[in-house]
Amino acid sequence: MSDRVYNFAAGPATMPESVLQRAQSELLNWHGCGMSVMELSHRGSQFAEIHAEAKERFKRLLGVPDTHEVLFMQGGATGQFAAVPLNLMDGRAASYAVTGNFSGIAAREARRYGEVSVAFDGAEEHYRRIPRQEELSIDPGAAYFHYCANNTIFGTAWDYVPESGGVPLVCDMSSEIMSHPVDVARYALIYAGAQKNIAPAGLTVVVLDKRLAGREREITPQVFNYKTMVDKDSMPNTPPCWCIYMLGLVLGWIEEQGGLEEMDRRRRERSAVLYEVLDNSRLYLPHAERGSRSMMNVTFRTPSAELDAEFVAGAKARGLLNVKGHRLTGGMRASIYNAMPVEGARALAEYMKEFEVEHHV
Ligand SMILES: *Cc1c(COP(=O)(O)O)cnc(C)c1O
Repeated sequence: MSDRVYNFAAGPATMPESVLQRAQSELLNWHGCGMSVMELSHRGSQFAEIHAEAKERFKRLLGVPDTHEVLFMQGGATGQFAAVPLNLMDGRAASYAVTGNFSGIAAREARRYGEVSVAFDGAEEHYRRIPRQEELSIDPGAAYFHYCANNTIFGTAWDYVPESGGVPLVCDMSSEIMSHPVDVARYALIYAGAQKNIAPAGLTVVVLDKRLAGREREITPQVFNYKTMVDKDSMPNTPPCWCIYMLGLVLGWIEEQGGLEEMDRRRRERSAVLYEVLDNSRLYLPHAERGSRSMMNVTFRTPSAELDAEFVAGAKARGLLNVKGHRLTGGMRASIYNAMPVEGARALAEYMKEFEVEHHV
């Protein structure tokens, strides 16, 4: 694979090589127009085509029903931590499941705008697991229930869609969007910072049940107003044109590979390669509990911080980059998103086994 490394970064993260090559080949002159996508007017017919195609592909791949709209926004997933309450809180409290760092930040951000009831808090267990349905106490009068499908930092993931009893379901899918089929109709709102799995940083994708547009409060900024975004087809102002173009290419690549069923098969294959090493190891300690494991971010450690550092350095020397864990968890984290080939996971697994043989006492 030329001079490229296996990049296990959590986001911005590895992109499909063929997509980068395609972007390179079109960089100076997109489809014979004599300009780069970066230079096109966002109001012109050429960008309109790029925008429409990316949106169509997104809808097709994820199976977005006509009740829902796909919005291209900015401000990252963190922007949505504010946009969600500013648009949906509606005077009522909102319910949050706190299963990791980002869902905790989302709940804190929502508290700036109204009342938050916590349906579950995994802090005491150091976010090692996802609650079962019966452990969730969702306020039946809440404006919405928010959860984070895949906890990027702690390496846990929900293996079910929570039943919210009629309370609109809101989900942060930043680190797993487009990695498996989703029943979009069950959600009032899905959002994702695109830089983990589907595009470069700078784009946030929102899938909104249109019936929830128009509940924003007076102070909601225009660029965070879902109704404005729906009415103006995500272009009340200049959108992140380049990111939307790259999203279209990545989604085209996913379609060529076999769509979300194939992405699902691959994520299972990649993660199984790494969890198998962890399950047969006497050196490594996985962070996530077995029933709560993420297939996108695999978190583990050795018994000491020194050995962790040695592991990370040794990995780097082999072209296995960015396996150092987040400062909140320590240890290691291998992010294995859609664009990570299974060979990358196998190379890391081989290294893990060799490292264990060398260091096990
Ligand atoms: C990375 C991440 C975020 C933060 O995304 P930004 O786009 O940097 O704001 C939020 N939630 C999850 C689950 C993430 O993985």
